[in-house]
Amino acid sequence: MFDHIQAFYQPTSVREAVRLLHDGKGRGRVVAGGTDLTLLRDRSIRFLVGVTHLGLDYIRRDPNGCDIGAACTMAALEHSPVVRGIAGGILARAAATCGSIQIRNVATVGGNLANGSPAADTATPLLAMDAAVVLQTDKSRRRMTLREFFALPQRRRINGGLLVQIFVPKCKGRAGWSFQKFGRTETDIAIVNAAAGLGIAKDGTCAWARIALGAVAPAPMRAEKAEALLAGQTITADLIERAAESVAREVQPITDQRAPAEYRRELSQVLARRALRECAQQAGCAL
Ligand SMILES: Cc1cc2nc3c(=O)[nH]c(=O)nc-3n(C[C@H](O)[C@H](O)[C@H](O)COP(=O)(O)OP(=O)(O)OC[C@H]3O[C@@H](n4cnc5c(N)ncnc54)[C@H](O)[C@@H]3O)c2cc1C
Repeated sequence: MFDHIQAFYQPTSVREAVRLLHDGKGRGRVVAGGTDLTLLRDRSIRFLVGVTHLGLDYIRRDPNGCDIGAACTMAALEHSPVVRGIAGGILARAAATCGSIQIRNVATVGGNLANGSPAADTATPLLAMDAAVVLQTDKSRRRMTLREFFALPQRRRINGGLLVQIFVPKCKGRAGWSFQKFGRTETDIAIVNAAAGLGIAKDGTCAWARIALGAVAPAPMRAEKAEALLAGQTITADLIERAAESVAREVQPITDQRAPAEYRRELSQVLARRALRECAQQAGCAL
């Protein structure tokens, strides 16, 4: 598997890590938990740069939200009282569905986002939470929203640098949240996953709606048309149904070994409906 790797570096600072990657001119590769990387058959990789000694395994409450180091494991997210306390705990719930306990003990949130799988389970809750990512190269440190990150072509997202941090903004006011995942087995990768958030204004109408879906497009996505249908309206069962139908029209699923495209489209509607109903109930809307 790694017979072509000539060196494994374990730098102790972000600066040293990005310098190693820069000097390697594309022959180096970041490794975190290795749960995706070990399956990769890229024989151009000559050396690996580990991220486990960079001090990126923190979860910190911030006055404006929460900062999560990219090297935090799924197990750390799953058990963190801070992560469980934000946005109805949907990120902790999503992390708890990533593979087996053994996988979750080493797999990181940074690896999950950087790997570029459209089915990444932490991507949908983070998109629904309007999260941002911080990227570091040898020359610059950049922050962008996760939506902007996923809108870039996969090869330009990390750009030879490091994903160092995820920021989750604080959500004020009355809101409800949901994470939904459907896979072949409990520990399997999602056939479709979905996350949603609904904010309710003082007059009882929907102040904002966020619906994110995974495994139904080239990258994890937000269903913007469905969100626009909900915003400013009183949430009813009928409106939720129309939003879920809109989700089914917005997704662009493919057929693969896990499911046919049409099955994924149908499932997107079902999961969006379930997610929105859960959000509405949590936010105290009478359906
Ligand atoms: C049996 C099994 C079950 C799985 N089940 C699930 C599941 O249910 N849900 C799910 O979402 N995933 C699942 N996965 C996929 C995988 O575990 C996750 O995507 C995991 O979060 C990847 O993190 P990692 O730390 O292991 O990444 P690695 O394998 O170390 O890296 C993955 C990629 O990201 C890059 N990378 C890693 N960290 C950084 C960083 N900080 N900056 C820049 N680039 C970086 C690496 O260079 C590599 O290209 C499963 C995998 C296996 C083997």
